[in-house]
Amino acid sequence: MKKILLIHTGGTIAMAEDKETGSVNTQNRHPLERELPELAGLADITSENFLNVPSPHVTPEHMLRLSCFIENKLKQDTYDGIVVTHGTDTLEETAFLLDLVLQTTVPVIVTGAMRSSNEHGSDGPYNLISSVKVASSSESAGKGVLVVFNEEIHTAKNVTKTHTSNIATFQSPQYGPIGIVTKRGVFFHHTPVKSAVHTVTRLTKKVLLLKAFAGMDGILIKNAASGMDGIVIEALGQGNLPPATVPALVQLITEGKPVVLVSRCFNGIVQDIYSYDGGGKKLKEAGLIFSNGLNGQKARLKLMVALELTENRHRLQELFDQ
Ligand code: ASP
Repeated sequence: MKKILLIHTGGTIAMAEDKETGSVNTQNRHPLERELPELAGLADITSENFLNVPSPHVTPEHMLRLSCFIENKLKQDTYDGIVVTHGTDTLEETAFLLDLVLQTTVPVIVTGAMRSSNEHGSDGPYNLISSVKVASSSESAGKGVLVVFNEEIHTAKNVTKTHTSNIATFQSPQYGPIGIVTKRGVFFHHTPVKSAVHTVTRLTKKVLLLKAFAGMDGILIKNAASGMDGIVIEALGQGNLPPATVPALVQLITEGKPVVLVSRCFNGIVQDIYSYDGGGKKLKEAGLIFSNGLNGQKARLKLMVALELTENRHRLQELFDQ
């Protein structure tokens, strides 16, 4: 029988609904403990409560600590797979940070729930069972950190929360899931390109995420970026910005603060195509770093990690090309 380490961090999967008020909150006793007898038929499970917080309370420091916790547990004992339960709001960020820094090739699965433990149609137990199945599959090894939700297997790099309440919220726009989980087993239909892993022991850099909009100018950028070590900007379309933003961005680059460009479109990648003022070609010439399809929140984490490794703009661009 496979040995699986189950690490809880909180989120709706660990919560219950107050039937009188309808409000959902954290519990002292983890509701998924009830599922353990059924899971015992699937794998030899060891549980750890790492955190018990809603995921909007999770910080990049928690994520990095979680990665150290996982690596240490794997040094102390042998596990065939790891399952992390997490709130869905920042689940994709934790999964991606783990994907960036974890050295292990043991399958690491992140899951959660959209409905709390005592709500009708609660999806936590099924997501947990599916995740244990994926973590136990030898085919899951070496595919990077995976997110298992609603019978689908997604890569940490591409998955994103797309719906506020629907249980099919996790999608990988443009790419789709890489596999499915059925009652009979785990089936992968795509092999992801494995991204580079980075060794970082701390995250000390402040990185701002801004979204571009029609009529945006440099004032917001100048004020918001003060005290920051770098910024990520969700540009328009293929990677273009209102021209009035450009002087503030160029000023940041001159000060040695990298500016990473992603798109506010959730399909496609940014490219240096347009040569009008504020167009991608001009932005590239001005020294902005173009990301390779990451969304804003993931590009922010990547820049935080990358800035621990280098401040050289060309090296940063290489890291974002990977
Ligand atoms: N707000 C909750 C959280 O992220 C949502 C969830 O877990 O589904 O913790």
